[in-house]
Amino acid sequence: MKKRIFQYIAGFTAFLIAIGYILPEKLVIPVMGAKTRDWNHQTFWYEPWGKSGVHKGIDIFAKKNTPSLSATDGVVIYYGKFGIGGNVIVVLGPKWKIHYYAHLASTNVSIGKFVRASQTIGAVGDSGNAKGKSPHLHYSVVTLLPYFWRWDKSTQGWKKMFYLNPSERLLSIYSKG
Ligand SMILES: [Zn+2]
Repeated sequence: MKKRIFQYIAGFTAFLIAIGYILPEKLVIPVMGAKTRDWNHQTFWYEPWGKSGVHKGIDIFAKKNTPSLSATDGVVIYYGKFGIGGNVIVVLGPKWKIHYYAHLASTNVSIGKFVRASQTIGAVGDSGNAKGKSPHLHYSVVTLLPYFWRWDKSTQGWKKMFYLNPSERLLSIYSKG
């Protein structure tokens, strides 16, 4: 009997994981009106980078209170204050990737809310350790299932199994014109 239950749970888990991979991953630049020139394409894993050591995302610059958009379809799993990130939003998107939006001036979501790609979820700001700097959206993408082949010898290089470079896919989508 116990074995049966275990098999059901294992089967259901495998099913859920598969669903996450089947979902299409539409991706947009998560700031309204932003272009590829609005972030520095080289700042992913740039060091030294304050408390974090290396920069695990990109900073998209915009006027304060510019709407910040969900980069993908997904479900909001956290929003609120989060250390040096200030006001943040965390969205679970397709392919078991976490999308992290930080330094927001305000948020406009609730836990468990389903958001669509390009839907407004908050406003660009300078909260957290962006205080005193130009307002920008810090955007990170984290895969829950490790990409082992991305591990390298750079500072905190093992974390590259999880932190993906948001520039890579955004540039491949938006540089096509
Ligand atoms: Zn940043």
